[in-house]
Amino acid sequence: MSALSNYSLKPFYDDMIARLKGAGVNMPDLDARFIIEERTPYDWSDIIARPDSSVTQTQHDEIIADINARIAGKPLSRIYGCREFWGLAFLISEDTLDPRPDSELIIDVALKHFPDRDRPLEILDLGTGSGCLLISLLSEFKNARGWGVDLSSGAVKCAKENAHKNHVAVRAQFSCGSWLNGINKKFDLIVSNPPYISNQVIPTLSKEVRNHDPILALDGGDDGLDPYKELFPQLKNVLNPDGIALFEIGYDQEKDVMRLAEDAGFAQRTVHFDLAGNPRVVDISGGDK
Ligand code: GLN
Repeated sequence: MSALSNYSLKPFYDDMIARLKGAGVNMPDLDARFIIEERTPYDWSDIIARPDSSVTQTQHDEIIADINARIAGKPLSRIYGCREFWGLAFLISEDTLDPRPDSELIIDVALKHFPDRDRPLEILDLGTGSGCLLISLLSEFKNARGWGVDLSSGAVKCAKENAHKNHVAVRAQFSCGSWLNGINKKFDLIVSNPPYISNQVIPTLSKEVRNHDPILALDGGDDGLDPYKELFPQLKNVLNPDGIALFEIGYDQEKDVMRLAEDAGFAQRTVHFDLAGNPRVVDISGGDK
């Protein structure tokens, strides 16, 4: 991208939108606003109320670099290394999935299931990534304690930092390992957003996802169901009899995941739908079929 010629805030902002839009970026006005707010002292109200404010040369150059990266397919969350989830700020890294708003449904379901926020729940997060699920839950349940596991040591490092940043570190522990290996206690609430994309589908994902989310956090094997197949049969070893486990699923996996839960002997199985109307979370509990 060539340098934008205008250094006044509103025309500069309009030029940014035009460039992003011309390159086919999805919501160019939102992206332009986010970039302005990240790189300059101005916010949305300044663009409207103080359109002639000037952008410095450094801010201008940084913004041009960001726009070039965005046009090349890098999500803004990857450019700035952070993402908001459940109203909290999370650092993300090349080792973590970029948290999606859809995954907030897990937090919603957990809050409805355990209306008493003071309950001293024991929470396990399998494949914690940035830690967004566990840390959001600990921020809601002030007496709860949590354990986050991830196969990637880089993800564990990132999740630990996020626990500090969001003031729940004293109630959180993280370990690097494969699923339930080394987990030696029982939990009231188990959550997981496992990798559930079929490895044949991965090459067809958008470049934002394919080139920037870690493959380890996406690849669920040939049919995308590997994590559920491995975890469900072992889950009762770590779930309290009156506990509940919440798993994120792909939009077309409801039937398969429900069947796997039934095969593993879970009596209660419920599917929860996201705002787009897709099945997104399966909750499983209960000892007998
Ligand atoms: N929801 C992510 C996507 O569709 C996938 C995350 C996952 O595999 N857990 O890109």
